[in-house]
Amino acid sequence: MSRTPPKSFHVKSFGCQMNVYDGARMAELMQAEGMIEAGADEADLVLLNTCHIREKAAEKVYSDIGRLARRESGKPMIAVAGCVAQAEAAEIPKRAKAVDLVVGPQAYHRLPGLIADAVAGRQAVDTDMPAASKFDALPGRRAGAPSAFLTVQEGCDKFCTYCVVPYTRGAEVSRPWSAVMDEARALVDGGAREITLLGQNVNAWEGEDEKGRTRGLDGLIRALDALPGLKRIRYTTSHPNDMTQGLIAAHADVESLMPFLHLPVQAGSDRILKAMNRAHDVASYLRLIERVRAARPDIAISGDYIVGFPGESDADFEQTLAVVRKVGHAQAFSFKYSPRAGTPAATMADQIAPQVMDERLQRLQALLGEQQLAFNRATIGRTCEILIERSGKLPGQKLGKSPWLQSVLIDGGEIGDLVEVEIASAGPQSLIGERPRRAAA
Ligand code: SF4
Repeated sequence: MSRTPPKSFHVKSFGCQMNVYDGARMAELMQAEGMIEAGADEADLVLLNTCHIREKAAEKVYSDIGRLARRESGKPMIAVAGCVAQAEAAEIPKRAKAVDLVVGPQAYHRLPGLIADAVAGRQAVDTDMPAASKFDALPGRRAGAPSAFLTVQEGCDKFCTYCVVPYTRGAEVSRPWSAVMDEARALVDGGAREITLLGQNVNAWEGEDEKGRTRGLDGLIRALDALPGLKRIRYTTSHPNDMTQGLIAAHADVESLMPFLHLPVQAGSDRILKAMNRAHDVASYLRLIERVRAARPDIAISGDYIVGFPGESDADFEQTLAVVRKVGHAQAFSFKYSPRAGTPAATMADQIAPQVMDERLQRLQALLGEQQLAFNRATIGRTCEILIERSGKLPGQKLGKSPWLQSVLIDGGEIGDLVEVEIASAGPQSLIGERPRRAAA
């Protein structure tokens, strides 16, 4: 049975920055088709751009679908995208009849055709991983926010035993140099002053520059640094084994490369790292951090930690705390291990009891929280530039980001401005900045 084509859409993205980027590109694609963006309560089409990393991700998606199916203003066309779509594919409309279309992260450039299929009452499921890049089929970037994401690399060949990414996002692929440079120029022309380069293993990016020379992420960053109007460059997420000397050197001498590095180690025990198939050990990770700090002494180090991986003993967990103490994080993400169907760790013996995981996570987060507060407090009295990204909650208040990715609240200023502030006070999540007297005068 055919239905009326949707005129408006709403995208709800969950999870990592790469999903936020994909959500923005899907929104641009639907706008290019003449659809307008609307709120979740009134849009004709609601797209759930899902994440498979968090616990019970699929269950949360199904409860969202149920809510949309019972929406007071009438059931919208429901689309499921992202990693849950990839992992569950045709199972989704079988289990949730309210779902009209399913599109995987490598196939979303085909969204207009899938919407047409759904309108015509045909099955609309596409989780292919086509050889041709979806990026070539997407419309050009639009003017947007002062800080923009740009995906340069997708997929992963590392196969950590707990992770679904190699299965949901496919093998490591780098976008070509010219495509990245063109998109960066379009973003800067549209008002971006900061670009965060994204990839599941962004520091594995490799490509040929316009002279045919093979370059790594450091080469790309140096070329972006020369773009007029681009003031700040960041990148995430990195794998320790792809952290080249060239990239470390770029932190020393590329002024627009912000002093921030998200470099996950995941655990502090070599035995657990081996079971995770991380292909690095604790000592090499710590040496890497030392080298990065030697290149850029004020760099903020972020990371990811998993507690309760199968077989993790109390002694293993103590080693994780010891690593955190040695590194001294500016911020870090920490999670309880949860099994993902189809990954080797899901069937490993010696799964850890939930209450043990809870207790370990609390201890780890307490330590990380102390470190984050200490890092933030250490910036009090320092003068730095912030990029104003949006309004704050109070009238006239603005929120910007420091070079170390801290949220800084100030009075006044315009979105998109880079302003010098002195840090007056600091809490765990945000700082208060004041214009230095000479700037305010
Ligand atoms: S390197 Fe990262 S994305 Fe790749 S398998 Fe390991 S955790 Fe997953």
